[in-house]
Amino acid sequence: MDNKVLGILGGGQLGRMTVEAANRLNVRTIILDAEGAPAKQINAGEHVTGKFSDPKGIAELAEKADVVTIEIEHVDTDALKKVTKPVAPAAETIAIIQDKYLQKLHLAKHGVDTAYSEALDSNAESLAAFGAKQGFPFMLKSRRDAYDGRGNFVVKDQASILEALATLSNRALYGEKWAPFTKELAVMVVRSNSGEVFAYPTVETIHKNNICHLVFAPAQVAGPILKAAQLLAKNAVASFKGAGIFGVEMFLLPSGELLINEIAPRPHNSGHYTQDACVTSQFEAHVRACLDLPMPEGFTELTTTTTHAIMLNVLGGEVFNSELEDCRRALETPGCAVHLYGKESRPNRKVGHINIVGNSMAECLTKLAIVQGKEPSTAL
Ligand code: ATP
Ligand code: MG
Ligand code: MG
Repeated sequence: MDNKVLGILGGGQLGRMTVEAANRLNVRTIILDAEGAPAKQINAGEHVTGKFSDPKGIAELAEKADVVTIEIEHVDTDALKKVTKPVAPAAETIAIIQDKYLQKLHLAKHGVDTAYSEALDSNAESLAAFGAKQGFPFMLKSRRDAYDGRGNFVVKDQASILEALATLSNRALYGEKWAPFTKELAVMVVRSNSGEVFAYPTVETIHKNNICHLVFAPAQVAGPILKAAQLLAKNAVASFKGAGIFGVEMFLLPSGELLINEIAPRPHNSGHYTQDACVTSQFEAHVRACLDLPMPEGFTELTTTTTHAIMLNVLGGEVFNSELEDCRRALETPGCAVHLYGKESRPNRKVGHINIVGNSMAECLTKLAIVQGKEPSTAL
């Protein structure tokens, strides 16, 4: 399809699924990560061994690739800025987004609504002053290297300040005003080389222990909220430079107002449902954006045969491989697709996901109950 080689910083599951999508288009990919990383397992040929955050590895990957992209934002952006090949999205965009406080400042500057944020010094006075002004509880967040809620601490009251500082020690911090959300929504947005933005449907994400557990597509909220979320996500992504897919996480407040929680400059867990429910998956959309391939009208929409979808994350069970029971039941259930990442099972580790598609949310919920080994509330 395209004789350009796509170099990917990071070879986890997001890289692996990007490779899958690229393979179908006969686009060659080269991965920078450790030997045997999930993306390398399904991708024969030349790779670079090393850390995706290491400048030497980044330079070597760039040498071998025509376009460079990421599957994780925690990379060395100074090294990326020195790359002479096109980088998708722009290294400058990744640098802003990887620092969650700079990301918030950028969004506020561009008139995009987010939870109020302020950089904090790592001391009790600074946290107490923020709590006094913005109220308790508030969220204390690590500016960098955060994922799955590791890097967040709910500061309930004045008395929990010392525990917050001890938990998030030795790192730059910021405070975020509490968002009393009724639901968490997310929208995948793909940005073309020329700066056009296309939104996928608005979905609802359900987290368990700060890890994404379920995604409902479309979100079960009123139509105007679905549209407003897409618009907010498109405006947010339009404010950044560079091509590629972005995951936009949002809070829906009781008033119906939407606030952005955070943005990921890469494929995102809340967009996995697109693999089996949409005309074009988030991974293929990303490959198209990186290589400047066409993005026709409606390519991000749910298909006419799949009007609803649920994604269930497969997390490693307490007993080794016990999570595979859900996968086996999914294989036996119509309208279910199992995606496994080639990662060894460890408790709570994301090792795969199951996409469930159907013509109504009730149908998807019934199939979800079957997959989880529960009594379905309605018959199929
Ligand atoms: P991810 O794995 O999505 O990258 P993360 O570690 O970057 O996670 P956040 O997305 O910032 O963390 O927060 C994790 C969860 O904590 C959110 O999905 C939401 O449930 C809750 N949360 C975050 N910020 C706030 C806030 N300001 N008010 C209330 N709840 C919040
Ligand atoms: Mg995050
Ligand atoms: Mg998040």
